[in-house]
Amino acid sequence: MDAESLPVTSETPEPRLTDSLGRVIHDLRVSITDRCNYKCVYCRTGEMGAQYPELGIEEYLRLIGVFVGLGITKVRLTGGEPLLRRGLVELVRELAGLRTLWNQPLDLALTTNGHLLDELAGPLKAAGLDRVTVSMDAVDAPTFERITRVAGSFEQVLKGIRAARAAGLTPLKINCVLLRGFNDDQIVGFARFAREENVVVRFIEFMPLEEGRLWTPEIVVPLREIVERIGRVLPLVEMPPREASETAKRYTFADGVGEIGIIAPVSQAFCGACSRVRLTSDGKIRTCLFSQVEHDLYGRLRAGADDHELRAYILRTIEGKEARHHIGEPGFLKPSRSMVHIGG
Ligand code: SAM
Repeated sequence: MDAESLPVTSETPEPRLTDSLGRVIHDLRVSITDRCNYKCVYCRTGEMGAQYPELGIEEYLRLIGVFVGLGITKVRLTGGEPLLRRGLVELVRELAGLRTLWNQPLDLALTTNGHLLDELAGPLKAAGLDRVTVSMDAVDAPTFERITRVAGSFEQVLKGIRAARAAGLTPLKINCVLLRGFNDDQIVGFARFAREENVVVRFIEFMPLEEGRLWTPEIVVPLREIVERIGRVLPLVEMPPREASETAKRYTFADGVGEIGIIAPVSQAFCGACSRVRLTSDGKIRTCLFSQVEHDLYGRLRAGADDHELRAYILRTIEGKEARHHIGEPGFLKPSRSMVHIGG
C-alpha cells in the first residue's frame, strides 16, 4: 500500500512503523543539541564546536508527536549534551503527557555525560523522565579527566549519578566506551563499581564515528575479551535477553550481586534486530548511525506540511532503512556526521 494512503488513527492497535525487512521500529532517539561541554578524546577533536542548528522545543514536540502517532513507544533524548539545552525540563513534561498508540505512557529516557545531573535529576524526574543513562569512561579521576579534558569532571559526574539514583531515575545505567590503550585498564574497576554503586555498567565497543581518525579494528576491545578479563577476577553468568531487539548482552556475577552489559555493534552486530531511528538536532531523520543520507523532516514541517504529510514522509523514509552497517568491510565509508552531531 502507498504510505500516503495509510489511514492513521489513534485506535489503530498494530505496530505501524515497519521497514522493508519487516523490522518494527519503536525506538526514537532525538538529539536536542549538538553542543557538548566535554571534549572526550575519542569523540571530538576539540577544534569543532556545534555545527547544526537546534529546533525550538515546540518543533521537537510536534515531530516526536507524529512519530508516536505511528507506533514509537520509547523516546530517548540525547545530544551533544542534552542537559545543556534550555527548555529540556518543559520538553520532558510535555512528552510525559503523550500516550502511545496502545494508550500507554511513553518510555522516556535520556543519555547524558552527567555533568549537570546533580541539579537537574530532581526536576527531570518530577517532569516525568523515567530513566537516565550516564556516560562514564573511567572509574578513576585522572583517567576520566584525561578523556573528558575537563578538570573536576569525575567528582561532578559521581555527584550526578548519586543525585539521579536518589531522584529515582532508575535502573541507572552507566555506559563506558572502551578503547585499547586508553581505558581498557578500567574494565575490572567498572565491574566492581557496578556492584558497589548498584548501577548497571554497559561496555560499548568503539565504532568509527569520531570527528578525528582514531578508529582501527585493533583499538576495539571486543565482547569476548571483556567477558574473559572480568571473568578471571569476578566470575560472570550470562543472563537471557528480555526482548529480541535488546542490544546489550547481559551478565550477572556468580554471587548474583550486580549486572553488567556489553554492547557489541562491531564484533557481534545486531542490525537484524534493530528497532531504532534517529532525529538529529536540526530535524533530519537518520535510519542508521552509519547512514550516508539524511531525510529532512523539519524541512517539510517548515514548508507547511500537515501531520498527515509528515506521517507519510516518515513511513516512506523508514521503509528504506539500511539492512546493516559495514564497519570493518573494504570500502566502508564513515557517515556524514560524527556521533556528537548525530546523537548517540
Ligand atoms: N553527551 C551525552 C553523553 O555523554 O552521553 C550524549 C551524547 S554522547 C555522543 C552518547 C554516547 O555515545 C556516549 O556514551 C558516548 O560515549 C558514545 N560514543 C561517542 N562516540 C562513540 C563511538 N565512536 N563509538 C561508540 N560510542 C560512542
